[in-house]
Amino acid sequence: MVEIKTAEQIAKMREAGLVVAAIHAATREAAVPGATTKDLDEVARKVIAEHGAKSNFLGYGGFPATICTSVNEVVVHGIPDEKTVLKDGDIISIDAGAIVGGWHGDAAFTAFVGTGHAPELIELSRVTEESMWAGIAAVKNGNRLVDISKAIEGYIRRQPRPATGKYGIIEDYGGHGIGSEMHMDPHLLNYVSRKRGKGPKLVPGFCIAIEPMVSLGTARTHVLEDDWTVLTDDMSWSSHWEHSVALTEEGPLVLTAVDGGKAKLAEYGVTAAPDPLA
Ligand code: MG
Repeated sequence: MVEIKTAEQIAKMREAGLVVAAIHAATREAAVPGATTKDLDEVARKVIAEHGAKSNFLGYGGFPATICTSVNEVVVHGIPDEKTVLKDGDIISIDAGAIVGGWHGDAAFTAFVGTGHAPELIELSRVTEESMWAGIAAVKNGNRLVDISKAIEGYIRRQPRPATGKYGIIEDYGGHGIGSEMHMDPHLLNYVSRKRGKGPKLVPGFCIAIEPMVSLGTARTHVLEDDWTVLTDDMSWSSHWEHSVALTEEGPLVLTAVDGGKAKLAEYGVTAAPDPLA
């Protein structure tokens, strides 16, 4: 069952989304050489408290922190701690969420720590982010879930291959419905699977978190003994980008983007829905 939201509920989700955007801005600024991932978690915790919001990550399935901090070969679900000190040249994916009035937001980005990153790392993050936007641009009335998967995979496959061989589109994790809970039906693959069918039709009130994860090597991953940290099997570095998106009568609204997705969607010839809080 897919939860369909009213306009009022989408406005609440927009509030949660803007808290997530504020966490992104603050943690992005704090992700500098010498900072620990625990420091970033503290920054996120403060932003949530300042907004009177609640954390949806803390305690989720026993998760012990407010954000996920995934450095270099860690794909997702890295646990912030005091011993992980960011170094010049690292990349870090920060995944954050918040709840406002019972409604959830969830989004992630990859940041470059310090300077001097190899061009293939810069390109990896760009391709991952842009594949997310291609997926968001496919959130259209009348499309089906598979059209989002197709747009994400298609974007990645059209890019020049990296020097390492090819991009690995992580298969074990994907996007998800979001609303009164953080993770809801439907599950969204970042590639097209013939086994999965076309999925539900996209209608006004449909909300989805779109989150491609891409590596410079394998698509395969494993989980560390802490039961959370997800690594690529070949230790290739990876990127993770995510936004929560609502479909309205007037098109997609990117709940976790400050401008509602307006600028990036325009590049895809899509008009973002008006911001209900503006
Ligand atoms: Mg998510």
